[in-house]
Amino acid sequence: MATLGNPKETIEILKKYGFSFQKRFGQNFLIDTHVLEKIIRSAEITKDDFVLEIGPGIGTMTQYLCEAAREVVAVEIDKKLIPILTEDTLKEYNNVTVINEDILNMDLNTLVEERNGGKPIKIVANLPYYITTPIIMGLLEAHVPLDTITVMVQKEVAERMQAVPGSKDYGALSLAVQYYAKPYLAANVPPNCFMPRPNVGSAVICLRLHEVSPVQVKDEKLMFAIIHASFQQRRKTLVNGLANALELSFSKEEIITALEAASLPLTVRGEALTLAQFAELANVLHGGNL
Ligand code: SAM
Repeated sequence: MATLGNPKETIEILKKYGFSFQKRFGQNFLIDTHVLEKIIRSAEITKDDFVLEIGPGIGTMTQYLCEAAREVVAVEIDKKLIPILTEDTLKEYNNVTVINEDILNMDLNTLVEERNGGKPIKIVANLPYYITTPIIMGLLEAHVPLDTITVMVQKEVAERMQAVPGSKDYGALSLAVQYYAKPYLAANVPPNCFMPRPNVGSAVICLRLHEVSPVQVKDEKLMFAIIHASFQQRRKTLVNGLANALELSFSKEEIITALEAASLPLTVRGEALTLAQFAELANVLHGGNL
């Protein structure tokens, strides 16, 4: 039975082990059972599922995951939390493995291959906010076999992931997330659901990985370099933004020809382009027959 998830139990565990929060690890522990239940429901976890949790903390959400899933692997960077997890809060569960590691240093393709026969897994996490984007982008770009990613992130990051062309939040993160997955906002979560309270609002976002990519791209790297360059200089037209970009080596003339081939106006800015239009532009530039 899950026993954590309220302030009293959390404080007791922290006191018992003399644990003090590490700001540098983005430690804000969940202390609200409604939010925990909402995350588990949104992730649609069943007894068939293999779940990877990033940053279990004292194991609050891990307890819920162990009850709902077939198997759980929890990766925690802070070695001071390991005895709390293995000797105390997760001791009763025989379907969980705790790994003391930095998630950014792990080869998750190998983990999925060895632990789940290469079949897609689910990721569930209350993410450390200082590395949200590298974690999400690392998972997506490495093509780790995934069903869904259900994560607590800063509200503003959740908004960027879901943003549409022309809106102020639309940018490289929106396009990257939407290239790989369909985002869905499951809940907004206020600071008082955490200990200690973060000074920003939070949100639970579910990313369901596409089975078939929504656009066909000849060279993913080139498309993302174009996207990156377009939003580096948001206020410039796409022609100037791409011609000035250090990471690209196209001349202004080549870019103008490509925009014309992709039926885009020469005055267009990157923030107006859909994912399909970025893909088309990348495919035209990739072809090299300009
Ligand atoms: N899951 C717990 C909860 O909801 O109460 C804790 C969430 S807390 C926001 C983030 C957790 O991620 C902390 O336990 C922190 O130590 C851990 N963490 C931070 N950076 C990490 C990294 N690079 N790799 C693995 N875990 C990390």
